Amino acid sequence: MEDAALTARKILRAVAAPHIIDNKSLDVNVSLGGSTYPDAAQDAESLLGQADAAMYEAKQHGRNRYEFFRSDMRVRLATRLALEGDLRYALGRNEFLLHYQPKIDLKTGLITGMEALIRWLHPERGMLLPAAFVPIAEECGLILPIGQWVLLEACRQSRAWSDSGLGVMPVAVNVSAVEFQGKDFLSGVRAVLISTGMEPQNLELELTESVLMQDAESAMVTLLALKAMGIRLAIDDFGTGYSSFTYLRRFPVDTLKVDQSFVQEITADPEGKTMVDAMINIGKSLNHRVIAEGVETRSQLDFLQRHGCGEGQGYYFSHPVVADHAKSLFKDGLQQGLVH
Ligand code: C2E
Ligand code: MG
Ligand code: MG
Repeated sequence: MEDAALTARKILRAVAAPHIIDNKSLDVNVSLGGSTYPDAAQDAESLLGQADAAMYEAKQHGRNRYEFFRSDMRVRLATRLALEGDLRYALGRNEFLLHYQPKIDLKTGLITGMEALIRWLHPERGMLLPAAFVPIAEECGLILPIGQWVLLEACRQSRAWSDSGLGVMPVAVNVSAVEFQGKDFLSGVRAVLISTGMEPQNLELELTESVLMQDAESAMVTLLALKAMGIRLAIDDFGTGYSSFTYLRRFPVDTLKVDQSFVQEITADPEGKTMVDAMINIGKSLNHRVIAEGVETRSQLDFLQRHGCGEGQGYYFSHPVVADHAKSLFKDGLQQGLVH
């Protein structure tokens, strides 16, 4: 096992060194899994299966590392494989649904839009949150048809709300890296806008910094194309990735969503406050809307209002809810405002 670990470390080091290709530095990550004969298994097939399980663990624990098989991994791998299998049928069986969480204007208390968040109503496991299946869907490519469904359903819902006389209700949809970088992404978005009759300015796409920074130049091309279609763009979980300030200024985005980890630190310590204040100011000076994510308490809200944060989202206002409930929030919230 020690010999194998030594080899694993050598491989990691060799691959992690920058590879210069076409004058560009290419960073490659590897995840390694190992299993040992005769302790862990006695035949080649089981050994390989276990090494595979260990590799998945290495990926989950942040990549660029190695893991050796332990028996607790077997259960997790089995769950993962079962979910991946079920995921293939979930769209066809209509098992996905969207919950909606309102965004609130912190001055007026009015709802400015709804973020669509996917849920999977699994026949045996019950309601699953994205963390349980979106990473798997991303890895096996199923996120492409699933993402297309989310986009279609969110736009259809927004249209249905406005057709029922509620007025315009903008929706935001989360887009993962695999979708954003997929070659059919733009045409997929265009097709949904056409088939639902959705006004592009009422659709906002949420992208994380890491999605944008993976290949900033080609991200820029896609962002400009989306912008030209009239769609709004947001940087999600702002502050958790590593944004380049150069790109932050150049990317044609409309909105910064301050990650909830920062918002939750507002009440925890003075540095947390300074940080959020700085992030609000970055957004403002770039002329972006600033939305604080994960607002849970009155004192967080007070702070955000005092420091001129434009909008907020979080359990303090409303959990993500089913479409019908979102509709009534919208109806009541419109007259009342949810802040007071
Ligand atoms: P996100 O886009 O940053 O969404 C915010 C997450 O924080 C949601 O979790 C929401 O339920 C949760 N949240 C909202 N307010 C609060 C609060 O006050 N306190 C706390 N502790 N949490 C709050 P959820 O629905 O589990 O989604 C997690 C992530 O999964 C999302 O993060 C997004 O990145 C991804 N996701 C969700 N739906 C989709 C989708 O349709 N497609 C893709 N590709 N990703 C999705
Ligand atoms: Mg989001
Ligand atoms: Mg977020």
